Amino acid sequence: RELVPGGLVLLASGDKGPADLRLLRVRNLKVDESALTGESVAVEKRAAVLDHDTTLADRANMAYSSTFVTFGTASGLVTATGDNTEVGRISELIAQADPLETPLTRQIAQFSRLLLYGILALAALMLLVGLLHGESWVDMFMAAVALAVAMIPEGLPAVLTVTLAIGVARMARRHAIIRRLPAVETLGSTTVICSDKTGTLTRNEMTVQRLWVPDEEYALSGVGYAPEGELTADGAGVDLDGRPALAELLRAGLLCNDAGLREDSGVWRIDGDPTEGALLTAAAKAGFAAGSEHGRAPRLDAIPFESEHQYMAALHGGASPMVYLKGSVEALLSRCNWALDRDGTVVPVDPEGVRVRVDALAAQGLRVLAFARMDGAGRSGIDHPDVASELTFLGLQGMIDPPRVEAVRAVAACRRAGISVKMITGDHALTAAAIAAQIGLGERAGEGALPAALTGRELAELHDDDLINAAAETAVFARVTPEQKLRLVEAIQARGAVVAMTGDGVNDAPALRRADIGLAMGLAGTEVAKEASDMVLTDDNFATIEAAVEEGRGVFDNLTKFITWILPTNAGQGLVILVAVLLAQPLPVLPVQALWINMTTAVLLGLTLAFEPKEPGLMDRSPRPPGSPILDAVLLQRILLVGLMLLVGAFGLFEWALSHGASVEQARTVAVNVFAVGQAFYLLNCRSLRWSMFRIGVFSNPWVWAGIAAMAAVQLAFTYLPIMNRLFHTAPISAGYWVAVLAVGLAIYAVMGLEKRLRPRGFR
Ligand code: ADP
Ligand code: MG
Repeated sequence: RELVPGGLVLLASGDKGPADLRLLRVRNLKVDESALTGESVAVEKRAAVLDHDTTLADRANMAYSSTFVTFGTASGLVTATGDNTEVGRISELIAQADPLETPLTRQIAQFSRLLLYGILALAALMLLVGLLHGESWVDMFMAAVALAVAMIPEGLPAVLTVTLAIGVARMARRHAIIRRLPAVETLGSTTVICSDKTGTLTRNEMTVQRLWVPDEEYALSGVGYAPEGELTADGAGVDLDGRPALAELLRAGLLCNDAGLREDSGVWRIDGDPTEGALLTAAAKAGFAAGSEHGRAPRLDAIPFESEHQYMAALHGGASPMVYLKGSVEALLSRCNWALDRDGTVVPVDPEGVRVRVDALAAQGLRVLAFARMDGAGRSGIDHPDVASELTFLGLQGMIDPPRVEAVRAVAACRRAGISVKMITGDHALTAAAIAAQIGLGERAGEGALPAALTGRELAELHDDDLINAAAETAVFARVTPEQKLRLVEAIQARGAVVAMTGDGVNDAPALRRADIGLAMGLAGTEVAKEASDMVLTDDNFATIEAAVEEGRGVFDNLTKFITWILPTNAGQGLVILVAVLLAQPLPVLPVQALWINMTTAVLLGLTLAFEPKEPGLMDRSPRPPGSPILDAVLLQRILLVGLMLLVGAFGLFEWALSHGASVEQARTVAVNVFAVGQAFYLLNCRSLRWSMFRIGVFSNPWVWAGIAAMAAVQLAFTYLPIMNRLFHTAPISAGYWVAVLAVGLAIYAVMGLEKRLRPRGFR
């Protein structure tokens, strides 16, 4: 928003172009320009000067607004913003909104078509029978229209949209932003949640607690990012002067680092990656000052951290140029031929000894980073091949990342809700398993044992069939590359699971798209990940996923309640007309009256179900099987039962009124009021499909009562206001009829309440 032409923009992988940029400096930059050119393969960029007439797709020295950086870094000068950018000019072309379609709305659309044919067939049948009875064409045509109006649930699309929208708003309040509407509903049927570890299940507040150089271990005290703590070995204070290897280990952590540490009114904060922030704090605790270290050895070049390489390297100049590296032990140790021992002498590295140390640290749940260096003399830049071997191993730093308290509760809640939770992380297998144990994930063989973890390497060797089994049984996946996430999602889905998957990096995008629900991190996530996701977690918290699932279930519940309410009542309205014609009786409800009752009840009564709060025990049920039909046996039974009761009530009172000397207008008014009152009582039944109204709280949804009061008001007007009498062919009725009408309503409530009681609780 604040960019203007001439501004300088830095790009890194995962970013979305904020404006059109002329690239000034480029480092392995690849950009996905499919939004602009339709070309799905990412194009390579360079800062060269190009011919004046180079076509858009070939302008390698430009990065355009709304395109995605998939690899590398660059800096560029803003040349155009907003509507003046290349994308801005064609924005009408790409500004097509996503259709508001969800699996449920699709099912309903199909169902509506079926319903329509059914209703048309009924109307035709009625017309035929009526004509055979010798009725006039005009009368029969009116009856057919009345039938259609009565039976078609006009309020359905509106209520669907409103219910979904309320769900979206409720989720947003709980830090989950829905990007694609179907996710609201799919969330409710989620059976597996695959979550990142760092930042989602843990707090991502890293503190270095252990340091190790061959062959001595140190402890570092202190909490948070404040540089206050003491370095000790075996309980005794440590002086850096006699320990060149330890000093190099800390210096490597300080220099090979893109984060910043600052004090903000007494509170120490970091800018950037918490893993790197922890290293800055560790170095500061030992007495290193970032400013003077960088002054002595300024950075000349760097290879930024990417999940798939698992390491970062930085070339530093000065008196003795040096390349410092940090990364996962697996990524760095194999490149090390040498090691610094405690006294700073270069010796051959002992990989086995290092691994034993790493396992011991990781088993305590510590996140372990390895450090290395290489002579940098004579270099002006570095790239991956330059650091492929001949490195000197410096040591390890182990940091804690405490689990989120909410995550423990949310994982337990998911388990109760029949949802299995899986941890997928780039971290070490033992660290992952230890954290998993702390938050109650995975099956443990016994007290003190860690849950089994499958590593990316093991995963790569499994055949697809074996992977499907392994994916179902394992809860912890460690050292997984983003590419493998896609395979994992597919393996889990192969057994029919509905999978929600978190992701933050560029390479997570395919897995996010493939998952039934892709969840992007709002804080740590890249623009690419957010673009590929269905939902964004604004607080990166696992508990938010659980909350969203709960809301999703609530939304689906309310939709089901509405459908359960509207279909039977409409069936009743139609049946009355149908039966009247078949029995050659006058119509108890005129077309215009059918339309009136249809619209008023849908809006004033039915819509209030969208505001129904979540039921008790919502998260104790198992997930709804995906694709299960709306119109099942239970609903069909209810349609029949309620439809029949409304039919008998309306038709019976209509005939009864006529036989007691009421005018046909008065009798029709009675019949219409049977529907209004009957539907209001049945609405109370539908507030929950499992529990009685008294269990969920009589006034827990005040909208229902407001709706019923409004309905009463309009029905009184409908019955007694002269203008309404004229418009709708109604007439005032006496109090006795109201008693009868209320009795019908009460009977419906009692019968449907009993029906609910008799059904097993697990139903629907
Ligand atoms: P996760 O954060 O879940 O561990 P990542 O893919 O982000 O997964 O990281 C993979 C591994 O790379 C980490 O376990 C760690 O060993 C290493 N790593 C993480 N961040 C950095 C970084 N900024 N610089 C160097 N190495 C890192
Ligand atoms: Mg990470």
